[in-house]
This record gives sequence, C-alpha cells and structure tokens, in this order.
Amino acid sequence: MSERKHNFNAGPAALPLSVLETVQKNLLDHEGLGLSLLEMSHRTPPFEAIIARAAETIGALYGMPDTHEVLFLQGGASLQFAMVPYNLGEGGAYIDTGVWSTKAFTEALNIGDAHQIWTAKPGGYRAVPGKAEALDVPASAPYLHYTSNNTIYGTQYHHRPNADARLVCDMSSDFVSRPIDIAAYDLIYAGAQKNAGPAGVTIVIVHRDKSRQFVGLPQAPRILRYKTQADKDSMFNTPNTFGIYMVGLVAEWVRDNGGLEAMEKQAAAKADKLYSFIDEHPRYTGHAEPESRSHMNVTFRSESPEQDKAIVAAAAQAGIIGIKGHRSVGGLRASIYNAVSMASVDALIDFLAAYEG
Ligand code: PMP
Repeated sequence: MSERKHNFNAGPAALPLSVLETVQKNLLDHEGLGLSLLEMSHRTPPFEAIIARAAETIGALYGMPDTHEVLFLQGGASLQFAMVPYNLGEGGAYIDTGVWSTKAFTEALNIGDAHQIWTAKPGGYRAVPGKAEALDVPASAPYLHYTSNNTIYGTQYHHRPNADARLVCDMSSDFVSRPIDIAAYDLIYAGAQKNAGPAGVTIVIVHRDKSRQFVGLPQAPRILRYKTQADKDSMFNTPNTFGIYMVGLVAEWVRDNGGLEAMEKQAAAKADKLYSFIDEHPRYTGHAEPESRSHMNVTFRSESPEQDKAIVAAAAQAGIIGIKGHRSVGGLRASIYNAVSMASVDALIDFLAAYEG
C-alpha cells in the first residue's frame, strides 16, 4: 500500500486506520457469515445487532439517560435543518455563527416563524456567544438552536449557550469529540462524515417525548417525523447499513481509546500546538478569536491568497492534504478530528515552518 496521507480534510475526513482495517477484513465475509454486510438484508438478526450495538455504544460514550434515544437517519445534517422545525414547532430561536447555522435558520423560516437572536456576521464570524453573555430567547420559542462547532469558520463553543431554553444542537463537526450532558438537549444531530464515520449517516440523539411529537403540516411526509423513525428503530426505510456499521466501529474505537475525555484532551493538545505555532510565526494569522477557537477546524491564512494557494499545492506534494480553506472564507484550514494524529499535526507544523514562498 502507498503511504497514507496526512489528511486534514473537513469531511468526509480521516477515519481511524484500525476501523478501516476491520472493514477491509470483513468486507467479503462479514464475521464468518459467508456474505458481505453490503449484501445483507437490514431485516436480519446480524444487522439488527449491528445497529443496536452502534446506538448502545454511542449512548454509553455520552452516559446518555434513558429519556433519550439514538436514531440513524439519512439526508445529512441538512435534512435536520428542516426536520427540527417540522417536529418541534415554529418559532425556534437561532444563533447565527456561520454558514451552517444560517442554513438551519433559513430552512426554519421556510417552514414557518423563527427568530435569529444573535449573529457573528458583522465581525466576520470569528466568535461564538461568550459563556457569560446571557442570550435573550423569546419565552414562546420551543427551542434554541445552535451549531456547536463551525466547520467553515473554525469557531467552537467551549460551554453551553447561556440561555434559559431547551437546546437543539448541530454537532456535525464535533460529535464524539468531548463529553456533553445529553440531558440538557431536546435534540442533537450530526452528519457522521467528520468525526464519527463515513458520509450518508446522520446520528440523531433525541428526547423520547420530543421524538413522539410532530407539529408540522398534517400532509408532511411520514419519513420527516422522528416518531416514524423511532417507532421503526431507524428502519422505516432501508437504512445506510454499511455506514451505520462503520459509525458503530468508530464509536468502539473512541471507547477503546479512552472515551470522550481522552478525545477532548487530545483535541486540545493538537489544537494548542497548532494555534501556538500560527500565533508565533509571522507569516500566519488565525481567523477565530482565541476564546472561540475550534479544537476541530483550525482556520488561518498566510500573507496573501496567492501564497495560500501555493502552500496548499506544496503541501499536497509533501503528502499533506485538505488544508485549503472553505471558499466562503478563503485562507487555510486544518481539520484535526479524532482520527488525525499528533504526528500529522507535527508534520503540518514542520511543513508550514519550512515553507519558503
Ligand atoms: N452542519 C455542519 C456544522 C457542517 O459542517 C455540515 C457539513 N459540512 C453540515 C451541517 C451539512 O452537512 P450535510 O452535508 O451532511 O448535510
């Protein structure tokens, strides 16, 4: 096999090598069953065990209370932007910290009333609301929606929003990266393709009462109701069987490597090293304000867009990929999810230090 790249892709992103090896080992003959999981019906005991185990492992990682359940859906986090207001109701409050939270809000407005209560837009999306900053959520709002980690701008909450509200959170790009108190949330959703697995699976952790609620239009498709999926154990329609299997393997890898506390510690160590380098080197400037810096997506720039481009090209030559900033921000971005090792971060720092443009 050719040498594996130092992979800083924002998503789909690096996966643990041992997970890929397990997948490879089982590809043709799934654990001695004589067929591939890709060829297996979802309505069979082996797959029922796989999906149940994946949900259990995720629940155990978070210490999830019985009040909540884990669903595996499709349509990406983008479909959740619509399912949230359809199920939980109009009038939700939204915090705007970047492209994805704007999209979530826009989708809510498309369905009915919604309120944007805070935006980081005027400052160029360099920050999230501070820990001490009390947010004014209308009493009538059924939920407060926020994006815990802003993949594009490289900002992240290191606390829960300071508000008296039930929370709905898009955790797409920092799911399974740190412990959280599930009880504080009515709903959490995450596209798997960053920290938690391959593209094509959306993990939803929902309060059981809320999953039984649907306040959308009576004629809305049943597939858009959490209740439909919860009643059928995420198998109302054919689920992404292989993706769910991989999400389960990644969750087991997290568990076997110290759990969410260890992931949080490693993420902080990798991020601190990279941000310290960026702060110290005269050629590079970080995008996010220090207290809002993401431990998952490190956004920065060199001295000019031309130099950024040259750096991306030279990095690729050196086996370092995925460091081009999102088109809406420009610059550079290194996504350092759970499966990106400190060795890869060191390789990136060495490369950026040695680069002479
Ligand atoms: N939310 C966040 C925070 C994201 O990073 C992304 C994808 N990059 C999305 C939502 C959209 O996810 P999907 O493509 O799975 O719909």
